[in-house]
Amino acid sequence: MKPEVHAVAPSVALLQLQKLGVCYDQGQLATARWILRDVDLTVHDGEFVTIMGSSGAGKSTLLNVVAQTLAPSAGRIVFGGHTVGGEGMPLQPGSGRRIGYVTQDDNLLPWRTVWDNVMFPLTLAGKPSASDVERAQRLVEQVGLTQWTGHYPHQLSGGMRKRASLARTLAYDPPVVLMDEPFGALDAETRAQLQADLLALWASERKTILFVTHDINEAIALGDRVVVLCGSPGRVALERHLDIPRPRDPETIFKAPSFAGHYDAIRACLRSGGQP
Ligand code: ADP
Repeated sequence: MKPEVHAVAPSVALLQLQKLGVCYDQGQLATARWILRDVDLTVHDGEFVTIMGSSGAGKSTLLNVVAQTLAPSAGRIVFGGHTVGGEGMPLQPGSGRRIGYVTQDDNLLPWRTVWDNVMFPLTLAGKPSASDVERAQRLVEQVGLTQWTGHYPHQLSGGMRKRASLARTLAYDPPVVLMDEPFGALDAETRAQLQADLLALWASERKTILFVTHDINEAIALGDRVVVLCGSPGRVALERHLDIPRPRDPETIFKAPSFAGHYDAIRACLRSGGQP
């Protein structure tokens, strides 16, 4: 893996959630339980945002709304200055291939090899071009799976499956990548290696990432900013810029001078449920 370099501070608003609300029983708004309400969030081009929150606060729901697999009940989603989602607007899953989604499960197709899994989204759009194939080969190499392209998912370790899933998502080059606790089920060592590899990939690919995690260390090690969702309905209870210089080493991030301050603020918010 190449060392992580991310010198340019992200500044252009790419994705905006404005007064976003979700309830799952839209037929009866008077009695419906709102899962998210009045969520305002601006994500900048190239930014790495980590999202934390208590279980049930609506983190996965938020990603599903951004991925446009779930329609918001209120508010709107603005992508690159254009409204792409909102109440009453038709869903456009993946927002026209501009959004990639790495879910908690890797969702690899068991009957396809690693290579065929990585190429799968590209083949859906027709015959992949030579540059598509070249890009996929480079990604497979970057995630360390070159020797494993002919293997099937059941022949891979959990970490390798995550790597394959990441390469598949990046293969079609979406500018935004959503990741929902992708490393949650991995052992500590594999997880630390994948975090480092993800940072290197992010630096070379220049993606905008929204990454849900339950691990405060992971949120601080990876993010430019951490956003904490709390309450019922969930709302943004804390936004904290993580001023730790890059490149970062996730395994030793706790040694950074500002780490303890960030950790304490995030933990306090999570414990209080966002109450001051
Ligand atoms: P988190 O990811 O923060 O743990 P989720 O977004 O998965 O939270 O869920 C938020 C709330 O929405 C939970 O109370 C959950 O039970 C509810 N929920 C999620 N999906 C559905 C659904 N399809 N129908 C009804 N309620 C749902």
